[in-house]
Parts: sequence; structure tokens; C-alpha cells
Amino acid sequence: MKNYKITVLKGDGIGPEIVDEAIKVLNVVGEKFGFTAEYDFQLMGGCAIDATGHPLPPATIDACKNSDSVLLGAVGGEKWETLPGHLRPEAGLLGIRAALGLYANLRPARIFEPLKAASPIKAEIIGDNLDIMVVRELTGGIYFGERGRCEKNGEKAAFDTMLYTVPEIQRIAKVGFEMAQKRSGRLCSVDKANVLESSRLWRETVLEMAKDYPDVELSHMYVDNCAMQLVRRPTQFDVIVTSNLFGDILSDEASMLSGSIGMLASASLADGKFGLYEPIHGSAPDIAGQGIANPLATILSVAMMLKYSFGLDDAATAVETAVNDAMKTARTPDIYEEGFEKVGTVEMGDLVVELLNR
Ligand code: NAD
Repeated sequence: MKNYKITVLKGDGIGPEIVDEAIKVLNVVGEKFGFTAEYDFQLMGGCAIDATGHPLPPATIDACKNSDSVLLGAVGGEKWETLPGHLRPEAGLLGIRAALGLYANLRPARIFEPLKAASPIKAEIIGDNLDIMVVRELTGGIYFGERGRCEKNGEKAAFDTMLYTVPEIQRIAKVGFEMAQKRSGRLCSVDKANVLESSRLWRETVLEMAKDYPDVELSHMYVDNCAMQLVRRPTQFDVIVTSNLFGDILSDEASMLSGSIGMLASASLADGKFGLYEPIHGSAPDIAGQGIANPLATILSVAMMLKYSFGLDDAATAVETAVNDAMKTARTPDIYEEGFEKVGTVEMGDLVVELLNR
């Protein structure tokens, strides 16, 4: 029987609570689909600072590198907010992306039918099958370019540089093209080629690559228009591929189409099948320890792990179906609507497990 080694970083705040539910689900999926999972629990974030003085201890990086994938809860909290930037819990997040070469960030924005009313966008605009995948470049561009303070015309000034190499564009565009091939075959590359030279290189490179993907319908869109189109007619999108900065903003915008932060999963992938999977929300210190956090985003992150790192598409679909069905009867407080049973973190995890076992 196949055994997967998974490094688990529960993190801070609600992290441990939601990750426990995701592990419960993963164990049941393993029994059902014929694999075992072996967990290596490591520290990252505030808990790592308390134990070792550093948000990303070398032992954590080593463990991640020796595993098939990584499951992360969330990091951060008030206790560590006064520490210098490089020693804060969030420094662990940037550090682990760099250390593990996680250059492709996948963020699905989809509507679960039972939660349609939770979207801030009108139902007729959302439609019945909204399902967008934002593919964001994660380790290049302006967040990693040269920056500094200077003087211009005798005035204090500062600069950041957006730089992309052709191989950096090619490897993320490849993820976008292949993702489109696996879905409905439409890829929208988002840039600002009317103004930025780095975007002109981006567009040239993506266009050149399109010849190798004749089955993918490629379009290009300026980022400002894309920001507008995402709320005007979101159903026109299937896969969006874009740079680090634009993807940061657009993926947050796209995620809000589905209404609740407690429902949104993400994957950050390196070359091959290795990836780090986490909910997009933070450590929610305001509700930590109360047993009311929504574990579904973390459970859906496990579904992404099954699909993208382990190639177990049927298992991933089974988890997504169980999550969808759980919301037909029960809700955690963040997605509660009258007429449903109000449940806590553990009860929601138990319900997903029960539905998987049916
Ligand atoms: P947050 O996402 O933690 O919380 C925002 C709001 O959403 C809060 O009211 C919270 O209670 C609610 N919420 C979030 N997840 C929920 C869930 N699963 N179920 C129910 N409600 C949920 O964002 P924040 O308050 O801005 O940040 C809190 C801490 O998390 C900060 O230290 C921040 O730096 C950190 N953070 C970490 C990550 C990460 O680990 N990837 C991401 C974002 C923020």
C-alpha cells in the first residue's frame, strides 16, 4: 500500500484545531482509497518562535524537504506582533516558499451550491457553476526584485523593481497551460503590457508557448480590466495566469466571489509533484480555542493535496463532495444561516468523515 509522508505545520491560533480535522479526513480517505499517511509534526510561526527563537527552524525545512507534501494551518498572533519583521511568524511563510522553491500558487475560487447566498455578488452574475483557478507566480517579480531608498530631484524617494526572466515566465505559464488542459481549456494571461516592459516580455513569452498548446484557447487581459471583469462577468474565466503582484491582488478579489474566507483552499507547488497546502485565511486569534473555527478550507486544501501531489483525483472529488454535502445540513458560525444546524469545528470534521464513509 502506498504510504505518503506529510509534514504538518499546525502553526498558531486556530491552526491546530483546523489541521486536526483535516488529518481526520485524510486518514479516512486513505482507508477508502487504499493509501496510508505518515505525519511529521513540525513547528513554524509563533509556536516556533516560542520554542526555538526563530519562526522557521532549520529542522522544519529539512522535514518538509524529506516529505511528499506539506500541510499548513496558519501562523501569527498578537503576542509576536512587536518582534522585528524578519523574526515575526509571517517571515516563516515567505521563508518556506523560498526554501522549498514553491513558485506556483493555485487558488481556486468556486461556489459551493449550498453557499450561493453567501456571495457578496448578485446570484445572476455568479451563475450556477462559477469555478475559477488563479495561477499566481510566487517567487519572482516585484516582491523579490531590487529595492531601496534614494533621492529624486532632491526629494526622499524609494523604488521596487519588477523583474522576470524568460524561464521564470515559462515555468509558471506551463502550469497555467497544463491547468487549462485539465479543465475547460481556457487560459487568460493577465499583465500590464500597455505600460510595463516586464509585462511585454511576459506576453511575448506566453504567446510563443501557445504554439505548443493548440488545444488551449489563450486570451490576454490587462490587470485593471481583469479586476473589473472579475466582478462584472466572473463566469467568463476558467484559468488565470499572472505575476506575483497582480496575482496577489486578483486572487484575493476572486476568492471573495465565493463569500466566506473559511472555505478557501490553496496550493503552492514546486517542480514535480511537491506542494504546500493551506487555507487562505490566517490564524483567526479572535476565535482561537473556542472550537468554532470552520475547518472546511483546510479540508479542501487536503483535497488539493490528493489531486496535485498524489494524483488521486477520485479521492479529491470524494472530499469535495462530502464538504458540499455537509453544508446542506450543518454550518459553523462564520457561514451560519437560519434553518441549518449550528456546529463547531470538531462536529463539522466528524460530519465530513461520516459523509465520506457513506
Ligand atoms: P484572519 O484570516 O486570521 O481572520 C480574519 C477574520 O476571519 C477573523 O474575524 C477570523 O475570525 C475570521 N476567520 C478566519 N478564518 C476563519 C475560519 N477558518 N473560520 C471562521 N472564521 C475565520 O486574518 P487576520 O485577522 O487579518 O490575521 C490574524 C493573524 O493571521 C495575523 O497574525 C496575520 O498576520 C496572520 N495571517 C496568517 C496567514 C497564514 O498563515 N497564511 C494568512 C493571513 C493572515
